[in-house]
Amino acid sequence: MAENPFFAPSSLPYQLPPFAEIREEHYLPAFERGMAEQLAEVDAIASNPEPPTFENTIAALERSGRVLGRAATAFFTVAASNSTDGVMEIEKRISPELSKHSDAIRLNRALWARIKQVATDDPEEAWLLEKYRDDFVRAGADLTEPEQARLRELNEELSRLSTEFRQILLRASTESALVVDDAKELDGLDEAAVAALRQDDGRYALPLLNFTNQPALAQLTDREVRRRLYALSVERAPRNFEVAARMARLRAERAALLGFPNHAAYSVADQTAKTVEAVEEMLGQLVGPAVRNARREAEALAEQAGFAIEPWDWSYYAEKVRKARYDFDAEAVRPYFELERVYRDGVFHAATRLYGVTFADRPDLRGYHEDVTVFEVSDADGTPLGLFALDPYARANKRGGAWMNNLVDQSFLFDELPVVMNNLNVTKPASGPTLLTYDEVTTAFHEFGHALHGLFSRVRYPRVSGTNVPRDFVEYPSQVNEMWVTWPEILANYARHYETGEPMPQELVDKLTAAEQFNQGFKTVEYLAATLLDWAWHKLAPGEDPGDPEAFEAAALEAAGIAFAPVPPRYRTNYFAHIFAGGYSAGYYSYIWSEVLDAESVEWFKENGGLTRENGDHFRRELLSRGGSVDPLAAFRAFRGGEPRIEPLLARRGLA
Ligand SMILES: [Zn+2]
Repeated sequence: MAENPFFAPSSLPYQLPPFAEIREEHYLPAFERGMAEQLAEVDAIASNPEPPTFENTIAALERSGRVLGRAATAFFTVAASNSTDGVMEIEKRISPELSKHSDAIRLNRALWARIKQVATDDPEEAWLLEKYRDDFVRAGADLTEPEQARLRELNEELSRLSTEFRQILLRASTESALVVDDAKELDGLDEAAVAALRQDDGRYALPLLNFTNQPALAQLTDREVRRRLYALSVERAPRNFEVAARMARLRAERAALLGFPNHAAYSVADQTAKTVEAVEEMLGQLVGPAVRNARREAEALAEQAGFAIEPWDWSYYAEKVRKARYDFDAEAVRPYFELERVYRDGVFHAATRLYGVTFADRPDLRGYHEDVTVFEVSDADGTPLGLFALDPYARANKRGGAWMNNLVDQSFLFDELPVVMNNLNVTKPASGPTLLTYDEVTTAFHEFGHALHGLFSRVRYPRVSGTNVPRDFVEYPSQVNEMWVTWPEILANYARHYETGEPMPQELVDKLTAAEQFNQGFKTVEYLAATLLDWAWHKLAPGEDPGDPEAFEAAALEAAGIAFAPVPPRYRTNYFAHIFAGGYSAGYYSYIWSEVLDAESVEWFKENGGLTRENGDHFRRELLSRGGSVDPLAAFRAFRGGEPRIEPLLARRGLA
């Protein structure tokens, strides 16, 4: 076992996980040893004869579980981005074990008694201590033995169901692909895209992306093919309806055990929103205007189409109206958005202008797949900051969407610099350059905003490093970073034709930005519908039977005033991975909650001269570098110099 790469720290620069050496058979032994070691460390902390101090209790807990941390980080990175049947098997086996392990720590009575006695005057320590106490109470540390026993069962079952949901969904993306015999049925897609869909048997398979409104719906000219694609999208993974309903009931039961009226109340209590009422007040301000907006848009589309718009028609006719109204063709900008250039001369360049940081290729450092590239990031004075790894392409064994994750958390405690990663799901062309859509460019800037939050972290403890902030705050810095996508000096630098190197003509730039407000009714309603669906599942009262899950879903949208047939939720229950297979249960509202702070911050940048080092440094110092080591809203106030208001968001979304 001496050769198991997880048993010792990685010897690679910045402790990048040694993916080239990691084999599937290393994971389970590393998980087992990692959990056993951490339990021994925790026992030693709990039974320490010395009086409890911050150092010998909280800091000691922060130091524990290093083998487990290394194994889990590498494993879940691969499980999300480059899974195999073997990895899926391990995940099924290990997820309930990890849930049990976490309970064994947080339900340890001797440890909890000790944590309650710790005191400190240091503000960073006091904040972390508060987090630990909150984590333990929320995990059930104050419950009786029989209550804790039930809680353990619930956690294990929920963890098992969540893995089941994720795996059913991953298989559905290819199993539910739109398959056609004749390339003619795919009329509207460009030639290269069609070529990439060709299978060995000569047929064509268009896999599903993980949201309702498949991008190809904007292009496919055959209405019947669009209808089929839409039906496959919303009806995929039908077994997940039952899995989701079961999870919602178990979460309601768990919330009751922990003293909350429902899972939503439990879920928001440690967020910046804090209460169900606060979330509902904000959503209430948005639903009416958003639906009115979408209805107006639907009328314009119906006029264009000559018939009432069905959900599978929306994108197709929206593209036509967009072309007519703004003379803007989404495909026309793609030659100006070549992947490599978007990163080097756009995403990285904006970071250099704002923060002075620079990026160096590290082809010697490898990821878990040949598509992963690694860059070393340095500060303006040359001081090393960390590594950034990028995995841009879609693969059948990769989960949908785009995300950032940490491979190494920055902390002064271990004197470690961050290693952060971005994943996108861009279709890899069969040959030639990768040309992005405008949405994909925006996603690249968004995910890199998370990466900067991780890279700029300067905190003592890993628990509060970088993006380890409340879920309804974490999207805020990443959304702010989207403002540079169309910032004139940045856009001019990266949006160049992939063949000629010519900058994007000003006329096209003007059209691109003028069209930005277009389709906001659709976008806001599909998002809010998903948010309110998440909310309905997680406001189930303990013991309440939701009945038939599909009927529950329809009734929930109706009751929330968001049901509008042409604009279905961005995620239906059966593929709502954020809330049934990720950490966003009763948390999908977070994106728009964060957007309030984002819209305010964009105003601040504009008021203060936009793209300057001074502005970047202020944002970095007051906000990005703090991670979760201070009250997030206090960091926002220090940056903005005031309380957040909702008006900038309403204006941006055309809802004012
Ligand atoms: Zn994000």
